[in-house]
Amino acid sequence: LFISFEGVDGVGKTTQVARLRDHALSMGLDVVVTREPGGTPLGKALRRLLLHGVPAEPNDDGSPARAADIAPRTEALIFAADRAQHVAETILPALERGAVVITDRYLDSSLAYQAGGRELTAAQIRSLSLWATNDLLPGRTYLLDMDPALSHERLTHSADRMESAGDGFQERTRRAFLDLAQAEPDRFLTVDASRSIAQVWSAIRADFDALVAQ
Ligand code: C5P
Ligand code: MG
Repeated sequence: LFISFEGVDGVGKTTQVARLRDHALSMGLDVVVTREPGGTPLGKALRRLLLHGVPAEPNDDGSPARAADIAPRTEALIFAADRAQHVAETILPALERGAVVITDRYLDSSLAYQAGGRELTAAQIRSLSLWATNDLLPGRTYLLDMDPALSHERLTHSADRMESAGDGFQERTRRAFLDLAQAEPDRFLTVDASRSIAQVWSAIRADFDALVAQ
């Protein structure tokens, strides 16, 4: 069973992932919890680049470094590289031995952020992502949905490069997630994440228990 959690920053994905892990463990299931970007050692290095930019190094001719921008296509490729490694090294081996795999973000994040929020098309990002994953999709995706202006206030850390993007970026990303959920109603369960942690959890738990019982 392969499960992903999606949603804009601060909606409580990590909290609900931890609840689901504890719940699945208490049922005696083999559980692997992971995340994107950064679910493998290579992924952790890629995550650092994506979130904090490229460390300043002098150019080959010794001239001073200029601030490195990551172009949109490059960024999409780095996320895809992270995901390809994640599937090959972490997700597939766990699924093959029968584990429940729970990931905090997966390819829908790329569809929402790299396509919905930025200038690449959904079709481009989708084919890139499916190539990277060799078409592996979750059996269930929990979309935690709420107003990003409110979820932003829940963040406990200072905003990273992505989180501080302005210009309605978070709003567009939320919209993109909702559109994805509507297009694939069998895979997605959308949960109103503005409710309490306990209420969000009980919706997820009921759905998960039904999935396991199938
Ligand atoms: O959820 P987490 O904080 O670990 O994600 C790191 C950041 O990367 C988030 O701020 C999110 O906005 C961004 N992200 C992205 N595209 C993805 C996955 C995450 O822009 N495919
Ligand atoms: Mg974050």
